[in-house]
Amino acid sequence: MSSTRRSVALLGATGSIGTQTLDVLRREPDAFELVAIAGGRRLGELAAIAEEFHVRRVGIASEEDRETLSELLGPRVELVVGSSGLSELAQSADIVVNAVMGFAGLPVTMATLESGRRLALANKESLIAAAPLVAQARATPGASVLPIDSEHCAIHQCLASSNSSSGYPDVRRLLLTASGGPFRGWPKERLATASRDDALRHPTWSMGPKITIDSSTLMNKGLEVLEASALFGIEVGRVDVVVHPQSIVHSMVEFVDGSVVAQLSRPDMRLPIAYCLGLPERLDHAWGAIDFTQPLALSFEAPDYESFPALELAYAAARRGGAAPAWLSAANEVAVEAFLAGRISWPRIVATVAAVMDQYIDDPLASLSDLLENDATARRLAHGILEE
Ligand code: NAD
Ligand code: MG
Repeated sequence: MSSTRRSVALLGATGSIGTQTLDVLRREPDAFELVAIAGGRRLGELAAIAEEFHVRRVGIASEEDRETLSELLGPRVELVVGSSGLSELAQSADIVVNAVMGFAGLPVTMATLESGRRLALANKESLIAAAPLVAQARATPGASVLPIDSEHCAIHQCLASSNSSSGYPDVRRLLLTASGGPFRGWPKERLATASRDDALRHPTWSMGPKITIDSSTLMNKGLEVLEASALFGIEVGRVDVVVHPQSIVHSMVEFVDGSVVAQLSRPDMRLPIAYCLGLPERLDHAWGAIDFTQPLALSFEAPDYESFPALELAYAAARRGGAAPAWLSAANEVAVEAFLAGRISWPRIVATVAAVMDQYIDDPLASLSDLLENDATARRLAHGILEE
């Protein structure tokens, strides 16, 4: 690695991606310095991270927690609060890891790019909802987006085989792999009875609760189709989903000559995190290394679009463009929260999103205030439908 340490802000530090990012940073003390962290609740954990890494700037979601955390952190640590706090922290490091959950991660994505920094992006919701605005912000000199999401990180690596840097005319399609989630192969009648615990039991990945539920409905894969299109500038007609239950092939790129390039590892998010931190170099530690002396079976199948209508909803939102993806993601967040709280059945998650999308009226999404308004509208409609 180069001799100067690069500074890192880790926003969403106490979550699943946050914790795994800390694992990578612990191995690379000479390459990176953690300078800022933020989290929602879990104040004790946040304080422990600040202490371990000697972090001087900490962000929290709510003003209510300021006093408690100030006491835990002591006077030398600066505390910032809310979305303006997140924006501030996003302008304080060379590399910003956006590991916040949901639309709350939007200020991180925007402030990082608008201030010309590297965004290591796990928070797909912000990119999906704000795609036209993110595209503008990415033009800021120095700004770049590297995807932590394993499928997109795989595609980023596979696209290095392309001869083109824009539009990718030599690429026939992106093949996003999906584990299929805990309900792969379940008949429709059984899906109607799926419980919260069933849905939280992901077969191959251990992740935060929201994305785990999204994986059970395949909404996660739908969101990833939108994410891939926005990240690589490839229309969704050239993004296909392939079910691959072992989660070893993290995604593939098919070129016009029929060649398919894939990226493989055992499922371990620390590999894509390390890739996004290290680029242009690769960090010298093999997270998720495969032992090829042991039997390894890889299988692939088509997704079941009928049992998992979230996928088609996502493609439809992509085709409509503008604020449609923001509506999809916002309605989904509200419905998943209701499911996690035990208020609705599993099939009602995607049914709620579909009912919200039925009411979508085209909006080109010209500004941030426009986006916030659309997000609020979709959430209000979703809450209304849930109360019916
Ligand atoms: P998580 O729920 O485990 O963690 C979320 C983090 O965000 C926590 O630290 C929480 O305190 C923080 N947070 C939430 N609201 C906040 C707010 N308003 N202000 C500051 N911090 C806030 O979630 P996760 O599984 O780590 O996922 C994070 C993001 O990464 C999501 O967008 C998810 O889709 C994406 N992602 C996760 C994985 C995975 O393996 N977990 C894989 C791919 C993509
Ligand atoms: Mg993923």
